[in-house]
Amino acid sequence: MTKEKDKRHIAILGSTGSIGTQALDVIAANTERFVVEVLTAQSNAVLLIEQALRFKPNCVVIGDESKFAQVKDALWSADVKVYAGKEALAQVVEMESIDIVLTALVGFAGLEPTIRAIKAGKHIALANKETLVVAGELVTALARQHAVNIYPVDSEHSAIFQCLAGEWNNPIEKIYLTASGGPFRGRSIEELAKVTKAQALKHPNWDMGAKITIDSASLMNKGLEVIEAKWLFQLKPEQIDVIVHPQSIIHSIVQFTDGSMKAQMGLPDMKLPIQYAIAYPERIYADFPRFNFMNYPSLTFEQPDRKSFRCLDLAFEAMHRGGNAPCVLNGANEIAVKLFLEEKIGFLQIPEVVEHAMNSVPFIEKPVLQDYFESDAAARASAASASLGHR
Ligand code: NAD
Ligand code: MG
Repeated sequence: MTKEKDKRHIAILGSTGSIGTQALDVIAANTERFVVEVLTAQSNAVLLIEQALRFKPNCVVIGDESKFAQVKDALWSADVKVYAGKEALAQVVEMESIDIVLTALVGFAGLEPTIRAIKAGKHIALANKETLVVAGELVTALARQHAVNIYPVDSEHSAIFQCLAGEWNNPIEKIYLTASGGPFRGRSIEELAKVTKAQALKHPNWDMGAKITIDSASLMNKGLEVIEAKWLFQLKPEQIDVIVHPQSIIHSIVQFTDGSMKAQMGLPDMKLPIQYAIAYPERIYADFPRFNFMNYPSLTFEQPDRKSFRCLDLAFEAMHRGGNAPCVLNGANEIAVKLFLEEKIGFLQIPEVVEHAMNSVPFIEKPVLQDYFESDAAARASAASASLGHR
């Protein structure tokens, strides 16, 4: 197949998720600009097949190898190559025809394919924040070495990136990441002790995958975003602040050294940052609903409640410690969220499990890639054993 030169050829890792499906909506509305080259999913074979029949990618990868035959059979006449498993996922990103890889898969699993894509010279549209939390120093250094751009998809980081357009030589004094506060904003510790999985899964402003929705309820998501911002924009910890803004209209703010602040705003819709990341530096027309001031007579701001939502400070602590500490925080949090979703631990045990892992997995000041895999495994084991005490 010859490559259509003027179009951007995109690989979407995690195409069946919240970000992945919204990215396909953006692409479907702009087929004169984008071509889907690769689609991957972990276990949702039915949706992956449907997407492949519609978008005709060069190939698809299904993570769950037991579903390989199902996908292969459904796509045998469609001229779409089918692969399965973790190694295939890490390999497909290296395909010559890909220009940009959208990392829309969830968790630590994003690290390896992102590194492989960068080494193959592919630009990254990064939704998978966990990759930068775990190994931000290594990943951003690799990107510089391979002259690869990392375009943020996370709405707060997209906002900062948009505020920085035309300001590349002007130093940042600080940034404010805005947080909605999640479904439990204003609740006391006593109330948080009783919240259920169903309540935690109901985010007031955003419809997202389960893991990030729980992270948003615990404020761990904002903590992960603080670490993500540090690496994306090369900031010192003291240059990053968090402010709760329940309406989610201002997506984040940059303060420059003259004291001037720039903010990016709009209705909460992830299609906008996804589109900005894959179309950069252009802004392309979109028919998304427009903001109406009369529907938002007041935009409000408040401090996060760091005492009740301990995950935020745990993430700041991990960022200050540096080394493998954010990797340990992330691995333990993935297990804690999984156990909470399985209703095996309560909401307030999430920070306890994470803290236990941070205090028990040995610190490594200058980790290499293998150390991250080992620290992640150690953090998961520690989190799983700590949680047993709560069951
Ligand atoms: P999701 O759970 O809806 O989708 C995850 C996708 O990744 C699915 O396609 C799934 O098949 C795939 N996947 C899951 N586990 C995998 C594994 N181990 N290996 C390979 N593939 C796997 O998640 P989401 O909400 O779309 O979030 C994706 C990423 O984007 C996360 O890192 C999240 O923090 C980030 N993000 C999401 C939003 C949002 O609005 N959903 C906003 C900002 C950032
Ligand atoms: Mg975000």
